[in-house]
Amino acid sequence: MTDILDLFPQYAEELKLLRKTAREFAQRNFSPELAREYERKEEFPWDLYRKAGELGLLAPSIPTEYGGGGFTTYLADMVVTEELVRAEPTLGEAIMSGPFSSHLLYFFGTEEQKKKYLPPVYRGETTFFGAYTEPEHGTDITQLSTVAERKGDKFILRGVKTFITNAPTAKYGVVLAQTDPEKKHRGQTLFIIHTDWPGVQIRKLSGKMGQRASPVGEITLDNVEVPIDYVVGGEKGINQGFYWTLAYFNVSRLGPAAIALGIMLAAFDKALEYAQKRAQFGQPIINFQLIQEKLARMAMLIEVSRSMLYRAAYYVDSYIKFQIDPRAMAAITSAAKVFITDAANQVIDEAIQIHGGYGYFEEFDVERYWRDHRVTRIYEGTNEINLLTITDALRRGAWKP
Ligand SMILES: Cc1cc2nc3c(=O)[nH]c(=O)nc-3n(C[C@H](O)[C@H](O)[C@H](O)COP(=O)(O)OP(=O)(O)OC[C@H]3O[C@@H](n4cnc5c(N)ncnc54)[C@H](O)[C@@H]3O)c2cc1C
Repeated sequence: MTDILDLFPQYAEELKLLRKTAREFAQRNFSPELAREYERKEEFPWDLYRKAGELGLLAPSIPTEYGGGGFTTYLADMVVTEELVRAEPTLGEAIMSGPFSSHLLYFFGTEEQKKKYLPPVYRGETTFFGAYTEPEHGTDITQLSTVAERKGDKFILRGVKTFITNAPTAKYGVVLAQTDPEKKHRGQTLFIIHTDWPGVQIRKLSGKMGQRASPVGEITLDNVEVPIDYVVGGEKGINQGFYWTLAYFNVSRLGPAAIALGIMLAAFDKALEYAQKRAQFGQPIINFQLIQEKLARMAMLIEVSRSMLYRAAYYVDSYIKFQIDPRAMAAITSAAKVFITDAANQVIDEAIQIHGGYGYFEEFDVERYWRDHRVTRIYEGTNEINLLTITDALRRGAWKP
């Protein structure tokens, strides 16, 4: 047995086929030149996103009735993300982040909301956003400045959301707002918002360190009228927003982990190739034991990261079937997110080191990989806050390593 997917025999064959589809798609469509072009223009790769949608790569684990790939395991999302990002980090990341937060609607939306909003995202016709962060509330979203005031069968939304992935390209997404400010986190609700509605303004935020093909924006809501039908989950979703957001992040934080794994693999591939080609002192630098040690340590970190990611995705499947304590699952996905994104930091940094001075120039790509990876330690819960989630589960006895 040489393939990690064989550890999951019930899915192995179908996942191998899916991985092959993703790999061939990337081979046909990706190139470093194209990635550099999109990064320079800070533009979303629409054409590639649509093509990925046509192949069912945007949401493999979502049921087909909502436009997804119909795989019954979250491993499918991990396999595609790893593969596309490994092939070309900037393009793979932008494409796989296009549907960001649509899983939240899948978990908690009404049947009608899911059937209306999800298929166009997974066909690659629009991106999606999830707006939780505000200028004054990032890690701590227990009390938001964005408010939703009820007026009969409507809510009026006011506030600003910032750093919102896909806000400049999406037709719609979800916004977390305070419906009952007195109740703090117990008084928050999620709303579906269309970006062309009166009172919604989107400002693109430029100049990110990396992931520049994945647009980020600020959303201003100026007395936006939202009929009650647009509350995520309908009437029963009122004041559930905080809990549903956290439950969603307990799963979705494996997204940045899969992206980090893909980027470190891309960096490793480059470093191994370079170490065999580059000669100093009359021989390839891979002959030097200090370079060998680096490559061995990089390979070890990658292997452990992949095992952790796949295992965590498997736990997500158990969580969705109510077979595992949610706090234990949260600890496992947090551990995977922190470990893998920190490992990527080391692996990509060593890939730059193996390239010497060339590693510092864009032509050799590894500097871009480092910039693309860096935010994986910040978003979907900073690594600090994810460490606290692990300790919380340990203290409550919900999880033991
Ligand atoms: C490229 C990009 C894309 C993003 N996309 C989205 C998106 O689509 N939707 C969205 O809603 N948000 C998005 N974000 C926002 C992201 O989730 C936040 O930046 C993140 O949650 C941290 O919030 P903050 O930036 O306000 O930092 P702060 O919360 O101000 O944190 C600053 C520092 O303090 C630390 N800290 C805070 N509290 C604690 C504590 N209790 N214990 C220890 N340390 C602590 C943090 O770990 C961090 O190191 C994105 C951000 C970026 C950069």
